[in-house]
Amino acid sequence: MSEKKLNYEYCDKLVRDFEEVVKQPIVSKSSVYYTGVDLGTACVVLAVLDENYKPVAGAYRYADVVRDGMVVDYIGAIKIVRELKQELEEKLGAELIYGAAAIPPGTDALDSGAVKNVVQAAGFELTNLLDEPTAANKALKIQNGAVVDIGGGTTGISILKNGKVVYIADEPTGGTHFSLVVSGAYRMSFQEAEIYKRDSKNHKELLPVLKPVIEKIASIINQHIKDHDVDEISLVGGTCCLTGIEEIIEKKTGIFTHKPKNPMFVTPLGIALSC
Ligand code: ATP
Repeated sequence: MSEKKLNYEYCDKLVRDFEEVVKQPIVSKSSVYYTGVDLGTACVVLAVLDENYKPVAGAYRYADVVRDGMVVDYIGAIKIVRELKQELEEKLGAELIYGAAAIPPGTDALDSGAVKNVVQAAGFELTNLLDEPTAANKALKIQNGAVVDIGGGTTGISILKNGKVVYIADEPTGGTHFSLVVSGAYRMSFQEAEIYKRDSKNHKELLPVLKPVIEKIASIINQHIKDHDVDEISLVGGTCCLTGIEEIIEKKTGIFTHKPKNPMFVTPLGIALSC
């Protein structure tokens, strides 16, 4: 690994605080709450911040309401967001009014309406709808380099110059494909493979099995960044929880690659920060 060190201090603290409030919400006297709604292929996450943009509550649920970044079960998505919202409101003893959401880059023409309607139908006043990598960077605070968000169904790639997104792309591959590989290799059902894959105790054993699919993602990253001057890649998204994924991507791209401590909650928190 290169000696270069990007400062994830702010992001790591934000995520650490969020993990705590998911377990135990902080009942505060905040005058306003900001909720980030991340409607993912694998997971729906709600992240709630107080008036000082500090995490106070959060909840998530694995669900199958979005595929490859597109809402496929509209009613199911509304139901989950509404239930998670109510659950958090009861815990906080406050109404969650303002919500922001994000969509994978490039799906705005097709799907931004659906995401917007889901968030509004669940009872939020939508204050912002932005693309996922831009949202992630609200938490990461990267000035220059690439942010690669490997979620369940999609991989979003964004390139930043002086803190601004100058290039954005989305590819239909992600953790779902990892689970399919595990399912095939271990003769497990997809569900069993998902659970097996998420357990960090199995990561060392799984890394060689998943190496070809990680290298495929790395070659996709290469295609997108080849015309840009990128000397640093930041990984976010649940799939990047896989221990050692950054080393394989770094080797294949030849670019310093690293990730915050828990890449899974970076985008939902970034969405909440954009609320
Ligand atoms: P998308 O961004 O594609 O719409 P999403 O928002 O649901 O999907 P994330 O929540 O960022 O995506 O990530 C979900 C993926 O991360 C799933 O494939 C899940 O299996 C994987 N994942 C979650 N935790 C872990 C873990 N500890 N180890 C490996 N993979 C994990």
